[in-house]
Amino acid sequence: MFIVKVNKEKCKSCRLCIDVCPSKMFRVSENFNKMGYHYIEIDRNAEKECSGCRRCVILCPDVAIEIYKKEEIKS
Ligand code: SF4
Ligand code: SF4
Repeated sequence: MFIVKVNKEKCKSCRLCIDVCPSKMFRVSENFNKMGYHYIEIDRNAEKECSGCRRCVILCPDVAIEIYKKEEIKS
């Protein structure tokens, strides 16, 4: 599993991440960031899951997206 984070203050709302993500993880926020852009936020729909393909990280021109691998908890 992966955790996706968007730095909303870096985002310029180009929406490339929305187009490229096969899991449809992103959506446009109704709110503005400090630069006046509708920043991208994670769509919290529980059925959506990041595959860790990193397409969004590579494509984002403003380096606003980071993904982290969520280590499985062993019991
Ligand atoms: S690709 Fe980056 S700058 Fe463009 S909308 Fe997505 S997060 Fe924002
Ligand atoms: S790493 Fe891949 S699946 Fe995950 S949010 Fe980015 S583009 Fe979507």
